[in-house]
Amino acid sequence: MEKIIEVEHLQKSYKKVQAVKDVSFFVEKGGLFAFLGPNGAGKSTTINTICTFLKPDAGRVVVNGHELGKEDGQIRMDIGTVFQESLLDDLLSVKENLELRGGFYGLKGTDLKAAVEKAVKWSETEEFIKRPYGKLSGGQRRRCDIARALIHTPKILFLDEPTTGLDPQTRKSVWNTVKRLQKEEGMTVFLTTHYMEEAEDADYVVVIDAGSVAAKGTPFELKETYTSDKMKLKCADQSLAVKSLQSMGIQYKEIADYIEINGKTTKEFIPILQKMQETILDYTVEKGSMDDVFLNITVREIRE
Ligand code: ADP
Repeated sequence: MEKIIEVEHLQKSYKKVQAVKDVSFFVEKGGLFAFLGPNGAGKSTTINTICTFLKPDAGRVVVNGHELGKEDGQIRMDIGTVFQESLLDDLLSVKENLELRGGFYGLKGTDLKAAVEKAVKWSETEEFIKRPYGKLSGGQRRRCDIARALIHTPKILFLDEPTTGLDPQTRKSVWNTVKRLQKEEGMTVFLTTHYMEEAEDADYVVVIDAGSVAAKGTPFELKETYTSDKMKLKCADQSLAVKSLQSMGIQYKEIADYIEINGKTTKEFIPILQKMQETILDYTVEKGSMDDVFLNITVREIRE
């Protein structure tokens, strides 16, 4: 396993607001990394610092072997960023925009042509490359923003809520492009998102809350730790079923015409099902979701 980003004891304040208190984590090369947290948690401050746009107050950040504060130029060559606000010109065509951005990285002639072709292929923007950026739909624009971020073949792609504001179908299709970049092109993807189904696809997740890391792990580990699984039973004779559960010492809730049982893992439900199979008419088992993980970790913030 190779670490491509290392963040150690990062701190950043804006006057009296301690936006990032003491944040440490790392990102594995080639992985899909999700950085989650409620609004105001310190995500943008952390990302802007890693991307060299903000100066940290304390801490150490290393990106692809380059130390922040000492080798910022090299870091900027290794990263591509798609943030909320677009950097492209509405009046220029997608191709012209990409050529212009490529020029900023010193690309020209056949190198520039090849770079534009590759960025277009990766972002799947072939269809509208000749159209003005300002005339495109939200999803098409987002793809162009991704193409711009890829023009210099970065090692790491930073995406700050890449699918926010898109309709569900477009969101899915842009998200599929992001996943393909990571899986097929070996790009490391650093993502913030409010869509938990996107976080579900991540190799590793860090949740920050009020400027500190609140939890980290794979989606599977986080679900194991912060959620419980649920089984709902519909029984032929509910009072008989309840007696049977009591005799097994199982905690349950009767809700209308079904019984709900919580378990740390779905495996705990197997002996219950076996023992009660005579009376069970139907049942469902629900795993804890990433939504539950996020809500359970950051619930204090939401209540406030
Ligand atoms: P997130 O991206 O998770 O929503 P931010 O990093 O934008 O969080 O913000 C973290 C905290 O820092 C918030 O309390 C926010 O109001 C504050 N903050 C962010 N940027 C600035 C700024 N430029 N000046 C003052 N306070 C800021």
